Amino acid sequence: MYIETFIQDLNIDIDMTRRMDCPNCGGKNTFTVTNSMGNLLWNCYKASCNVGGTQRINLTVEQIKKSKQNVAVKEKTFVLPEYVVKLSEDIFKNPIGGLSWKEKIWKDYCLHDIKEDRAVFLIKDSEKGVIVDAIGAATDKRLPKWKRYGSSRHPFVAWNTTGTAGDGGNNSCVLVEDCYSACTVTKHGITGVALLGTSLLDEHKKFLCNNFDKVVVALDPDALQKTLQIRKELQSWVDKAVVLRITDDLKYEDKTDINNLKEMIWN
Ligand SMILES: [Zn+2]
Repeated sequence: MYIETFIQDLNIDIDMTRRMDCPNCGGKNTFTVTNSMGNLLWNCYKASCNVGGTQRINLTVEQIKKSKQNVAVKEKTFVLPEYVVKLSEDIFKNPIGGLSWKEKIWKDYCLHDIKEDRAVFLIKDSEKGVIVDAIGAATDKRLPKWKRYGSSRHPFVAWNTTGTAGDGGNNSCVLVEDCYSACTVTKHGITGVALLGTSLLDEHKKFLCNNFDKVVVALDPDALQKTLQIRKELQSWVDKAVVLRITDDLKYEDKTDINNLKEMIWN
C-alpha cells in the first residue's frame, strides 16, 4: 500500500520516466517509475529486491493537456532544406592530396549544404529513427562555426553499431561537446553523444536516461568545471555517471585518452 501512495505522489507526467534511489532496498538509482499514458510502471533493477508493479491512475486535466501539447510538438516535423544534398567530392578542399581527419568524418556522416558550403550532420531521435534536426559545420573559416537548421533540443548521436560496446547490459555512451568527437569515439566501438555546446538541457537528460545506464562525461579539457557539474547533474538520471579527464579533445584521438575511455566504458 505504502509504495502505491509513494509512487502516485511523485506526480510523474505522461510519457516520463523518473529514476531514483529505491524506497524499498535503498539501492542507489536503481528504482524507476514511468507514466505510460496513465499506467504507472515501477521497478527496481537490483536482483535482490523484488519491488515492482503497475497501477492505473486517473490523469489530471493538467496532465492530459500537457500530453496533447507534446503530441502537437511531435507533429511539427523537421524538414531538411532542399539545398542540403548528398555529399560530393566538391566539398573536399584537396581530394588528391588525401583527406584530412575532418573530411574523413564528413565523408562517413555528412550531407552538404551547397548554399553555405557546410558539412551537415543529421540529428535523429533514435538509432534508426526519424530526422528531427540537423547541424552544419563550417568547411572553412566562416562563422558561425556551427549552424543549427531546426529548433529541436535533441543531442547529436553517433551510434556505435559494431556491437563491441554496449553488450552484456553495459549500455554506455560518452558525452562530448561536438559532432566530430562523437563520430571519433564511434570508430572505437563506443556510442558518442554530443551536447552541441556545453549546456546539459532537460531534453539531454531525458534522452540519456531513456537510452543509457552509464555515461562517461568527457567534454573538452578546457571545460573541466562544466564536466564535473554535468556529472553531478546526471547522477539522478542514470545508474552511473563518471568523468574522464582528457589531455586533448577526443577528436584528436590521443592514444592515452582513447585507452582510458575504453577502460571506463567497459569497466
Ligand atoms: Zn530495490
